[in-house]
Amino acid sequence: MMSESPVAPRVRFAPSPTGYLHVGGARTALFNWLFARHFGGTFILRIEDTDFERSSEDMVEGILEGMRWIGLNWDEGPFYQSKRLDLYRQTAEKLLASGHAYYCFCTKEELEKRRAEAAAAGRPPMYDRRCRQIDPAVASARKASGEACAVRFAVPEEGSTSFDDAVFGKVEFANAEIEDFVLLRSDGIPTYHLSVVADDIDMRLTHIIRGADHISNTPKQVLQYRALGAPLPVFAHVPLILGPDKTRLSKRHGATSVMAYKDMGIVPEAFRNFLALLGWTPGPAYKDREIFNSEELVQLFSLEGISKSNAVFDNDKLAWFNTEYIRAYSAEKLLPLIEEEWGKTGFTPERPKEEILSTIDLVKPRARNLKDFAGAFRAYFCDRFEYDPAAVAKFLKEESVRHLLAELASRYESSAELSEASAEQTLRAFAEEKGIKAGALINGARVALTGQAVAPSLFAVMVNLGRERTVRRLALAPRIA
Ligand code: GLU
Repeated sequence: MMSESPVAPRVRFAPSPTGYLHVGGARTALFNWLFARHFGGTFILRIEDTDFERSSEDMVEGILEGMRWIGLNWDEGPFYQSKRLDLYRQTAEKLLASGHAYYCFCTKEELEKRRAEAAAAGRPPMYDRRCRQIDPAVASARKASGEACAVRFAVPEEGSTSFDDAVFGKVEFANAEIEDFVLLRSDGIPTYHLSVVADDIDMRLTHIIRGADHISNTPKQVLQYRALGAPLPVFAHVPLILGPDKTRLSKRHGATSVMAYKDMGIVPEAFRNFLALLGWTPGPAYKDREIFNSEELVQLFSLEGISKSNAVFDNDKLAWFNTEYIRAYSAEKLLPLIEEEWGKTGFTPERPKEEILSTIDLVKPRARNLKDFAGAFRAYFCDRFEYDPAAVAKFLKEESVRHLLAELASRYESSAELSEASAEQTLRAFAEEKGIKAGALINGARVALTGQAVAPSLFAVMVNLGRERTVRRLALAPRIA
């Protein structure tokens, strides 16, 4: 295992902007960020946009938006690979000059034909290295005369290439199984293998933390580091994220876009906590703990805590984290997040700030997500709200209950004060006088006051809404549709 006490490490998140920021990418970004912050290092953002057809500025914006949402600030970049093509071409030149790379004149059609033949004969479809035989002077002359060619890396034919992965330990590949991969295409555009190494060296990265799906690319990168005489960074490959059915996480399992979780009303810090524990644990001392705020995550993060086994994305767990964070947050801290939800639905609260804050404290233990504050909890913040039809059907079915609630309204109107104790006393005395169960009135009143069948303690709700609103809403009970 690599020891891990780097002085000011430099790490990066290097997304390809061919899609939105997905859960796996966000987790990679988070691990790099936590590692950089833990050691006071540098977190670099690099946009790998050399696939011009599939990359777009909108996707870049979407990725940055997702990173900002989970609070992953970067120290350098974003650097765009599309603006760094010269570096890749120069790197290819160096490899050509030192004999670690060669020009390949094989056309696409020829390569396809040979691949098909190899497949038919049961041979691996690897490049047959035929252009490696061409004398370099002859190859250069052909290129100079305008013949189209790619640049390939000359993989040693014997031996093996290995690296010490900080998560997986020693990983070794037989060189015979590594193809002479393309570095630069005939149009001058680098492949991922070339640009990633050229940049990782140029940006002086010390640790490469990324998805385990890149393990098979790593020997091709290690070979280039060696050929270029550059020191190897520490590689740490992070296990995959699976859905509950243990297949690789995909849209079939639900949302994979990070921003979709924002839209579901997830608190960003809850999402970050949940993501951090997908494939990482803070060690035996914290075995029974799952809630870690951002400072704690930064303090506890280490590559040693990354697990070799795949992580499972559990939506119920995420929902649990979310409710825990909502409960633990002060009303002041929740307010901006709630205001964003209100903004999205065009909702404006009609109560003064002090009352809004105490109302948030009253209802937050029942929130499933931030959207509830703009949905099920509307009645607490303004007088225009809807009654849940199921709640009405269940608890305001009886006309008699509705009329009694209206009559109860006038009792509250004429009582001296409205405290939780007095509100309860008034209701219970009234129920007894009318020969009806207090529970029936409590359930009916809850719907009349909040539009919902479940709510915090009814009497606390009455005090929160105040006498005037309580009276008005109870008096309306006979007319609720
Ligand atoms: N751009 C690559 C990707 O999106 C990441 C490259 C790397 O981390 O080496 O998967």
